[in-house]
Amino acid sequence: MKNAFILLLSCFTLSASAQTVVKQDATIKQMVDEVSNKNIEAIVRKLVSFKTRHTLSDTTSKTEGIGAARNWIKAEYERYATASNGRLKVQFDAFVQPQGRRLSKNTPMKNVLAILKGTDTADHRVYIVSGHYDSRATKAMDSTSFAPGAVDDASGTAVSMELARVMAKRSFPATIIFMAVVGEEQGLYGSTNVAKRAKAEGWQVDAMLNNDIVGNTYGMETGLKDNRSIRVFSDGIPTAATEKEIAALKSLGGENDSQSRQLARYAKEIGERYVEQLDVKLIYRTDRYLRGGDHLPFLEQGFTAVRFTEMNENFDRQHQDVRKENGVDYGDLPDFADYDYTQKIARMNLSILANLALAPGQPQNVGVITSDLTNKTKLKWDAPKGKAPAGYYVLMRETISPYWEKKFYVTDTNATIGYSKDNYLFAVQSVDAAGHESLPVYPKPVR
Ligand SMILES: [Zn+2]
Repeated sequence: MKNAFILLLSCFTLSASAQTVVKQDATIKQMVDEVSNKNIEAIVRKLVSFKTRHTLSDTTSKTEGIGAARNWIKAEYERYATASNGRLKVQFDAFVQPQGRRLSKNTPMKNVLAILKGTDTADHRVYIVSGHYDSRATKAMDSTSFAPGAVDDASGTAVSMELARVMAKRSFPATIIFMAVVGEEQGLYGSTNVAKRAKAEGWQVDAMLNNDIVGNTYGMETGLKDNRSIRVFSDGIPTAATEKEIAALKSLGGENDSQSRQLARYAKEIGERYVEQLDVKLIYRTDRYLRGGDHLPFLEQGFTAVRFTEMNENFDRQHQDVRKENGVDYGDLPDFADYDYTQKIARMNLSILANLALAPGQPQNVGVITSDLTNKTKLKWDAPKGKAPAGYYVLMRETISPYWEKKFYVTDTNATIGYSKDNYLFAVQSVDAAGHESLPVYPKPVR
């Protein structure tokens, strides 16, 4: 009986998946395939070789400390830039962080940014992929002990770097920034500086992907091994929501439809479209208990941002002096990282960034018309700047569903859908002739 049951189940799975058409773009697939576990491992081991990348560590040595690490990252980006026809520009984003709780003195800091300029001059969209290159030992202020930080977060830094190597050879209408930031462990200082700068300089950051702790597949205590799953953390109620916006959520719902949650759903759809044996798990919270990350400063400035982190964490490895105690290995050493897994996560990031940067911009001023009492749903929006979309998908799902369930294709900038806005959730995304989709936009009520 048991076998018969399993057979039935697998038949069901087959027929269900046969209805899903997976359409991959050959160029994106080619780039995905070029992401190399060997390169990722080499980057992680090189970063570990600097002994410590603590934000307050030495900046004068050529071989040890945060100074040597950032110089090496910058030189690597510059090496990748030679294949970009001058389009990949590398810079230090330098600032002085005033003394603080985890900063004993005013400290000059440098993020490393590699900016791949978009080819469409009318299109000002920016997409960011980020990891933090600083590391720490047990004590937050210990700037001299060995702090390998292989998984936290040389793995995320390696994602940014390997993607820059692969993507610099191609061109995209929108701009992509490959970021390695400092000061995360002392208080998200590096990412805060870039987020504030982006706001002050009017960058149109449509999505920021933060990769922090994406290289371990073994869960402490539970013994669970998982090399398929990746968590994506996103805020529900937008971190930067105004009182008025919160009041609207209280009366009409939509607390599960922030722009960051749209990005999380998009990550699942696109990541699983291009990467085999990958489960993107949406976690409906901004970050884990007691922890924060570099997506938070971007959320605070009103940008769309998510955090990717491995499914099961090993807390014996993170923020630990390297040592052996009672037969247990402590410390974030490169031998404990799973480079095939980080390759998978890097490939997922690449597919998301490439699909976004090749797609038209997201529709603007998306509204659901509320002036009539009707059992249909009327939506309207404006075309994005830059490349004109071939059309738009109106997405629909039940209010209790986590993922979009139906897609309606339209070529106009308005649509009337035969399902009630009171009973379903909607969003609109742009799409080009090749099928690259923009992020979906949840409508605001308009009259
Ligand atoms: Zn980290």
